[in-house]
Amino acid sequence: MGRIYNFSAGPAVLPEEVLQEAAAEMLDYKGCGMSVMEMSHRSKVYDAIIKEAEADLRDLMNIPDNYKVMFLQGGASLQFSAIPMNLMKNKVADFIVTGQWAKKAYQEAAKYGKANKIATSEDKTFSYIPDCSDLPISEDADYVYICENNTIYGTKFHELPNTKGKDLVADVSSCFLSEPVDVTKYGLIYGGVQKNIGPAGVVIVIIREDLITEDVLPGTPTMCNYKIQSDAASLYNTPPCYGIYICGKVFKWIKKQGGLAAMKEYNEKKAKILYDFLDESKMFKGTVEKKDRSLMNVPFVTGDKDLDAKFVKEAAAAGFENLKGHRSVGGMRASIYNAMPIEGVEKLVAFMKKFEEENA
Ligand SMILES: *Cc1c(COP(=O)(O)O)cnc(C)c1O
Repeated sequence: MGRIYNFSAGPAVLPEEVLQEAAAEMLDYKGCGMSVMEMSHRSKVYDAIIKEAEADLRDLMNIPDNYKVMFLQGGASLQFSAIPMNLMKNKVADFIVTGQWAKKAYQEAAKYGKANKIATSEDKTFSYIPDCSDLPISEDADYVYICENNTIYGTKFHELPNTKGKDLVADVSSCFLSEPVDVTKYGLIYGGVQKNIGPAGVVIVIIREDLITEDVLPGTPTMCNYKIQSDAASLYNTPPCYGIYICGKVFKWIKKQGGLAAMKEYNEKKAKILYDFLDESKMFKGTVEKKDRSLMNVPFVTGDKDLDAKFVKEAAAAGFENLKGHRSVGGMRASIYNAMPIEGVEKLVAFMKKFEEENA
């Protein structure tokens, strides 16, 4: 049995080259006589791995020197708490709630201060991004929070909100490194890596230096304290060593593809194949507003639950796995992250066409 086309939303497909490289280095990393899993995180060899990973990420995203990069644990979900603990100096933050993940972050922040929901698209099952050009930003808000790509619903902020001078905090878990980004527009960018970068267990936080202070909420756990974590260069305790090593390989793979501009071009090309088909199909329909469509997560439905289930089952049997939609939306969802080859999408569309003909 060979490799399948894996449309999972996360943990998700990784570049085959990266997996092969990791396999080749599994027993003996560069003559060390051991796996990266087995070595001290304080060793010279590992120090080079984590430093190189950070340098490559900085290079890829063009991260300015006044931003820190941290490789942490606890997933994106722990940041739902860490962010307010570190940034809520006035104990006020504004949230744009465009899906479950933004909602969870909003609910978590409400434990630590005043979390204001200043816009939401919940009225239409999060199928669009609200107009964020002139929102009632709170005067004393410490930051404005968004989930930039909504993994479950398949929407993306193609334009960042007007924060009226407040720092923008963005969860980019499911669009990390999918296209070029202007880091200077954000106070903090973060994401779990298991969607588009690496294995579960690593979360990357990119934060403007002046936002890192000793003035955190009382009771903030040491592990959630950005000052401590950044002073220790992600080595306060044992980091997720192996995961960071794989992330580093993916950074190099993206560089080899031509960087984020090339990645964007490739992702647009892939997504267009699927969206064009959804727009012309009589059976399959996309579920979100066209202008807000994500390049990474593409939800669609037939409008008939039994037919959806039949499709998911037959697709899996044909080698297209993990197409079942999130339980809160139903239908199907194809996650077509960086590492999904274009052939995967072309073949999926061919399969959908055939299914449509057979079930018309
Ligand atoms: C998957 C996901 C999360 C949750 O990530 P964990 O690492 O499981 O905590 C948060 N935000 C977004 C946008 C996601 O896609």
